[in-house]
Amino acid sequence: MKLIILDRDGVINADSDQFIKSPDEWKPIPGSLEAIARLNQWGWRVVVASNQSGVGRGLFGMDTLNAINDKMVRSLAQAGGRLDAIFFCPHAADSTCDCRKPKSGLFQQIAERFNADLTGVPCVGDSLRDLQAGVSMGCEPYLVLTGKGMKTREDPELPPGTKIFPDLDAVAAALTA
Ligand SMILES: [Mg+2]
Ligand SMILES: [Zn+2]
Repeated sequence: MKLIILDRDGVINADSDQFIKSPDEWKPIPGSLEAIARLNQWGWRVVVASNQSGVGRGLFGMDTLNAINDKMVRSLAQAGGRLDAIFFCPHAADSTCDCRKPKSGLFQQIAERFNADLTGVPCVGDSLRDLQAGVSMGCEPYLVLTGKGMKTREDPELPPGTKIFPDLDAVAAALTA
């Protein structure tokens, strides 16, 4: 099985320091939906793993998060793509949960759901914590320079061997070449 794990904000859609709090605020990064559709066409199962601490902070509720993800799924369907699953951590940054990246909980949930060993599975993110969470489960780290990626590229803690691409479109091109 070809499995790829994507962060959401800053990878699929434009990020905001003010959080993505409504479907209106969810805007795809140009080419990202088509990139997922292309991965699907090449047999990749695409899964999202996302920190959504705005829920835990009370900025928006689960119903809103579901509506935002619905918009993503519908927009993606129009581009001919689909996600196999969306995993998220709703907990606040000061929570002791085990699923907020860089912790590995979301990735463990994915491994269980798909009954898969994540060794070598590409994990795509724009923040260090996305890559650290994946690497702790054996994933191969892919940094995109959208979202916070330009800043993350300069981080001395960037995992060794991190592959760097301009955006998700370039990642998909590399994986479907
Ligand atoms: Mg992000
Ligand atoms: Zn959590």
